[in-house]
Amino acid sequence: MKKGVRDTLVFDMKDLRHEDFKAFEALVPAASIGLAYEEVEFIEPLSCAVQLFRQGDDNVSVVAGVETKVSVECRRCISPFEVDITTTLELLFTIGSESLEQIEADERYYDGETLDISEDVRQEVILEMPVWYLCSEMCKGLCSHCGAELNLGACSCEVPDESTVLDSNPFSVLSKMLENN
Ligand SMILES: [Zn+2]
Ligand SMILES: [Zn+2]
Repeated sequence: MKKGVRDTLVFDMKDLRHEDFKAFEALVPAASIGLAYEEVEFIEPLSCAVQLFRQGDDNVSVVAGVETKVSVECRRCISPFEVDITTTLELLFTIGSESLEQIEADERYYDGETLDISEDVRQEVILEMPVWYLCSEMCKGLCSHCGAELNLGACSCEVPDESTVLDSNPFSVLSKMLENN
């Protein structure tokens, strides 16, 4: 690990005692801040560039750029593919303790000694995660009959007959019911 690169998102405020601004680099394993999923594999640690600005005596403004790379399975063709995740957080911490209302109002508190942005980064990365993973908008997925990967070429299954689709139309069922009455 490069000198000066940390592996945590917890900052000791003593580091900021004699300065108004300080920049940190961090490489944080995803699992260490509670990012662990079955469907998503983090193939790189979170690469974080964190800047702390002292505002007034005790307020600390935080700007954090976060980058990582995950591997997910396409929901249609089940091939794994990689997705880059990039996000930026801006937070303002003041000394105090959090109540539920304040957390909802997006206010952040710290005890004056250590400042922890792990939970904020965790939530922000979750928001950036693709919801419906597709390797491509054009992914054709798998044939529902034979399971062939249609991106690689058409299979020999027949396309469903148009007439069966029309028969399942609820209005045709309704009109039949009306006829019977
Ligand atoms: Zn796909
Ligand atoms: Zn097929």
